Amino acid sequence: MSTPHLNFINGEWLAGNTLAPNLNPSNLADVIGEYAQGDAAQLDLAVRAAEAAFPAWSTSGIQARSDALDKIGSEILARREELGTLLSREEGKTRAEGIGEATRAGQIFKFFAGECLRLAGETIPSVRPGIGVEVTREPIGVVGLITPWNFPIAIPAWKIAPALAFGNCVVLKPADLVPGSAWALAEIISRSGIPAGVFNLVMGRGSVIGDALVKHPGIAAVSFTGSVGVGRRIAEACVQGHKKVQLEMGGKNPQVILDDANLQQAVELSVQSAFFSTGQRCTASSRLIVTEGIHDAFVEGVKARLAGLKIGDALTAGTDIGPVVSQAQLEQDLSYVEIARSQGATVQAGGQRVACHTGSGADGFFMAPALITDSTPEQRINREEVFGPVASVIRVKNYEEALAVTNDTEFGLSAGIATQSLKHATHFKRHAQAGMVMVNLPTAGVDYHVPFGGRKGSSYGPREQGRYAQEFYTTVKTAYTLA
Ligand code: NAP
Repeated sequence: MSTPHLNFINGEWLAGNTLAPNLNPSNLADVIGEYAQGDAAQLDLAVRAAEAAFPAWSTSGIQARSDALDKIGSEILARREELGTLLSREEGKTRAEGIGEATRAGQIFKFFAGECLRLAGETIPSVRPGIGVEVTREPIGVVGLITPWNFPIAIPAWKIAPALAFGNCVVLKPADLVPGSAWALAEIISRSGIPAGVFNLVMGRGSVIGDALVKHPGIAAVSFTGSVGVGRRIAEACVQGHKKVQLEMGGKNPQVILDDANLQQAVELSVQSAFFSTGQRCTASSRLIVTEGIHDAFVEGVKARLAGLKIGDALTAGTDIGPVVSQAQLEQDLSYVEIARSQGATVQAGGQRVACHTGSGADGFFMAPALITDSTPEQRINREEVFGPVASVIRVKNYEEALAVTNDTEFGLSAGIATQSLKHATHFKRHAQAGMVMVNLPTAGVDYHVPFGGRKGSSYGPREQGRYAQEFYTTVKTAYTLA
């Protein structure tokens, strides 16, 4: 029996929980470890510890905070291969993608080690003579962070790092499917010199820990990434409890391909953003909106590229596409292929469960990437998020129709266009209703030092990451002084 991975509360690893196994979706016989399942009483302990730690931490010097964040970032970067391997083993993205995500987590901590030294205010003349006005930013208190399974270390990192940098205390509830990376990150934070109670990890079910967290009176703000349904319920609870809230949720991201696009580039960026990381990215392109002149060549190009991809164990060298994360997600992905078929679309490639291709003989949740054509904007496959390796092609007449279809969705996270036309690229950047717009680049794949987030049904509240993270993790104070 392996050593249990416990919750980290008030500077201690808390024994006495029930445990749940963390399973490898590439190989169902591989148990990664046993992880604690917290309860509402433990969540309460964690929030109280964070409340007690807040006065000292929020007024601590910025040098100590910067040093701690820098130390965490350095250790993540030094251990990126090991952490990336663990991440791939529990989530199913390929090892290269896992190492890339771990690297990003380290870079984020390094970035915010600098950001906490740069938190500026303003001095503004008063409209009344003889009075000075200062605008400063202060921490908000104890923040509750709820994260999804698809980026098990980067998303916790991009919430924890700014929260701590700006003087808040943290209670993290990671996704139950992937506790391993969050636990490893917590273990690194536990040795960083941050005082007891400032950072707490409570693993367990969303319906138990997540629910208790968003309702706890000691939590001042909640940052959530996950599905639209859960996000809406969290927003309602936060409004009731008078908490600041930030939601990053689903997408139905459009990738426009115009007749004048570089065909090879358009095929490659579409395959990358629709199917890599098994399509399990909120920024994945799931609607490929293609003009008539290039449509057939584009579809043939994507089919040819898909035929050459290796689907298999995430840890095996040479794997291009790892498994879907879970049985439930696999069933959802397969069911959407059937829904598309039943509504009149054509499945051009993939869409079925397959055996591992890369030789480990593992039994996992493998699925052949599905390319669907002859689909129309009103079909469910083009309106609802699948969150797997499934993309549908919508044929359009021209740029104007492509833009209209792009914006014909309740979501607004990322939108891309492949074109050689400066006029159309410029117009698209301005008129695509999305938080992030890509020209001749995949809709997935973003920098860590600039704002991340969407519009419409995809997001709610201030942006995450980069300098803009301070909008959520601080509150503004205006001070007047009589000279
Ligand atoms: P999810 O089911 O909404 O879960 C997200 C988190 O919420 C998990 O930690 C979950 O815990 C927790 N949770 C579940 N029920 C809760 C409740 N009643 N109260 C409080 N917390 C609760 O989403 P997911 O399946 O993990 O992730 C996939 C979704 O995330 C997709 O829709 C994807 O688009 C979105 N996503 C968005 C972004 C973005 O930045 N826009 C980035 C990545 C992913 P348990 O897992 O333990 O139940």
